[in-house]
Amino acid sequence: MAPEPPKREEPPKKEAVAAPSAAAPSEMKRETKAETTKKEEKSVTNKITVGHVHMSGCTGCLVSLADNYGGLLKILDDYADLVYGLTLADVRHIPEMDVALVEGSVCIQDHESVEDIKTTRKKAKIVVALGACACYGNITRFARGGQHNQPQHESFVPIGDLIDVDVYIPACAPTPQMIRNVCVAAYLLLRGTEDQKTLAAKFLKPLMNAAKRGTTACFCDLMYEVINQGLCMGCGSCAAACPVRAITHEWGKPQGQRDLCIKCGACYNQCPRSWYSFDVMNEFEGILELIDGAMK
Ligand code: SF4
Ligand code: SF4
Repeated sequence: MAPEPPKREEPPKKEAVAAPSAAAPSEMKRETKAETTKKEEKSVTNKITVGHVHMSGCTGCLVSLADNYGGLLKILDDYADLVYGLTLADVRHIPEMDVALVEGSVCIQDHESVEDIKTTRKKAKIVVALGACACYGNITRFARGGQHNQPQHESFVPIGDLIDVDVYIPACAPTPQMIRNVCVAAYLLLRGTEDQKTLAAKFLKPLMNAAKRGTTACFCDLMYEVINQGLCMGCGSCAAACPVRAITHEWGKPQGQRDLCIKCGACYNQCPRSWYSFDVMNEFEGILELIDGAMK
């Protein structure tokens, strides 16, 4: 007779209701608010499907996405199934998905890449240009004229030159938090309650407006939209980002040499005062609370 298998210990049962705490009234209020947020987000159950489509870039955006560590796992556990990603999922053809995070610009000599970006548009409900190369070309604008190692690659264009894009996440590379927030906001927009949809749409609005604004950005845009508006705080991020050293700082303010500018958009991307709309700032706290609540 085979020996009986050893009995496994039952895991401790989770408490259904949190133990009451002797908190101050203001703390109790906060707790109640947090519980309400939790209850609300529990009412949304279906995960969205997300894919990472890699065009031409340095892979820094993917590193930033992976840098979410626990945040990424939480997103994959509760909010999104990763259905496509060259290095992250073993899927060969671009499938149907709710959100496509597209990294990098497209080499127009590479027909496969051009087909891939068009397929992405057909298969994804929301196309997000992830990072500066996808939005404006960024450093890949610098790669014109045929490099030695890949002479067939002569011209890279931002994805918005080939397809309609719904959301931009400019910056080189976008922060892990920004990518996480966009993923959660997209989830709430597609699967949330009406209140959650409203807040998520507000969070995404400036990023959608950036996508409508177009695929070029250069020092002139920074000049008109930031410096001439008195919004520049002299942080120097634009000068540090410029790959051709077309920006210098004089008297604490950036000065551009337009004859050197290759219109890569790096300065515009990196400027903390350029593309994020201030209209949404008043409600930013509530929006971030919602996203943070959803991540608990
Ligand atoms: S000034 Fe420099 S960073 Fe800005 S768009 Fe021109 S080349 Fe790019
Ligand atoms: S990045 Fe923006 S705020 Fe900073 S110095 Fe350049 S223009 Fe000014």
